[in-house]
Amino acid sequence: MSHDIRRLSERKRRGEELSAEEIGGLVEAYTAGAIDDAPMAAWLMAVCCAGMTDEETWRLTDAMARSGEMLDLSGVGRPTVDKHSTGGVGDKVTLVAAPIAAACGACVAKMSGRGLGHTGGTIDKLEAVPGLRTDLSAARFLAQAREVGLVVAAQSASLAPADGKMYALRDATGTVDSRALIAASIMSKKIAAGSAAIVLDVTVGSGAFMRSADEARALAELMVAPGRRAGRRVGAVLTDMSTPLGRAVGNAIEVEEAVQVLRGGGPGDVREVSLTIAGWMLVAAGTAAEFEDGLARAREAVASGRALDCLARMVEAQGGDAGALERPMLGHRGHEVGAWPAPAAGIVTRIDARGVGYAALAAGAGRRHKGDDIDPAAGVRLLRVEGDEVERGEAVAEAMAGSPDRLREALAELDGAIVISDRAPEERALVIETTPPEGGA
Ligand code: URA
Repeated sequence: MSHDIRRLSERKRRGEELSAEEIGGLVEAYTAGAIDDAPMAAWLMAVCCAGMTDEETWRLTDAMARSGEMLDLSGVGRPTVDKHSTGGVGDKVTLVAAPIAAACGACVAKMSGRGLGHTGGTIDKLEAVPGLRTDLSAARFLAQAREVGLVVAAQSASLAPADGKMYALRDATGTVDSRALIAASIMSKKIAAGSAAIVLDVTVGSGAFMRSADEARALAELMVAPGRRAGRRVGAVLTDMSTPLGRAVGNAIEVEEAVQVLRGGGPGDVREVSLTIAGWMLVAAGTAAEFEDGLARAREAVASGRALDCLARMVEAQGGDAGALERPMLGHRGHEVGAWPAPAAGIVTRIDARGVGYAALAAGAGRRHKGDDIDPAAGVRLLRVEGDEVERGEAVAEAMAGSPDRLREALAELDGAIVISDRAPEERALVIETTPPEGGA
């Protein structure tokens, strides 16, 4: 195979299209350990440089999805719907939209990821709830899907194992940044996880992988097509991630903010994106005929408290202390807290999502190295948002960290992330555009 993979890398670098057999054989051999990391990294780099056709992206997605177990959710007794965000800062949309969709009669049985670089991950956030387990067996995952209609677990090693191996290699070799590879990585996991419908939240801006709407649109198309070809009903929503979503960036504080939204309060941007995604999830699941109907049901699930009840039932089913959802910071305490004061009077012109993400990471909310422990109580709270007027010395944000050194680093990162001036912030739409769900049975 080493001879073959060298030829495949050369041909890919020249821009030739590889067949289903060639891509399938490569994925199978690498997953089985028959191809070493170095030649595989060369092939991944060739893909990054030369790109892939839509057909090749489908072939890669399909081969990666089939590299392990394919979950069968057909027995859960409700329409199944998954959602996925391509990543962001302060993105707690799953914690709000998934319970809403479950409270409206859909089953959300979801595998989520951990934080990656400056972006947060739902699994790290959920694990900030004392006692909550995310390492569920397939049997337990399916039982909770049936009984509660809502389960969020960490990626199991048996699901799309090719992605687990390839992702680690991409991370180590600077080959993450390819739309075809990102699309295949995400969609192979979504397809293997078994939901009949999938809503993709494709984020755009400094805090996202895709910096422009054009890039995000191209990524959305690359993800939607293989999902539909695999027989799933798939839609996508492009959302802004230039500035953090909401005011909380961290783990415990993001769960706290998600609970506020499920109580009918919380920041308007988190509410808008979460209700939009939940509304489309209900359309994708077939529980609502049209988006307006889905949105109305989503709002009612929040107003009646049913969505929050659903989250609490999921937390309990996964061994967590649902009472912690009632406590500030889920009951975590004892951190160093420091304010970032406005250096001059003016308008908050810019709060850069990526910069705030790095500040939260420096505080301890994310990992600098694979396998690092994260600090559930660390993070950044925005006390002011873009467009607010501030006085000189007024606290615009505060950081929470486990040590004075980490607190200093987090506040230094905020120096580069926040701009106070006499200029109004740039106007941006929060929900940029939508590809309505289509496909499937
Ligand atoms: N998330 C994934 O799961 N895979 C990627 O390649 C990028 C983000």
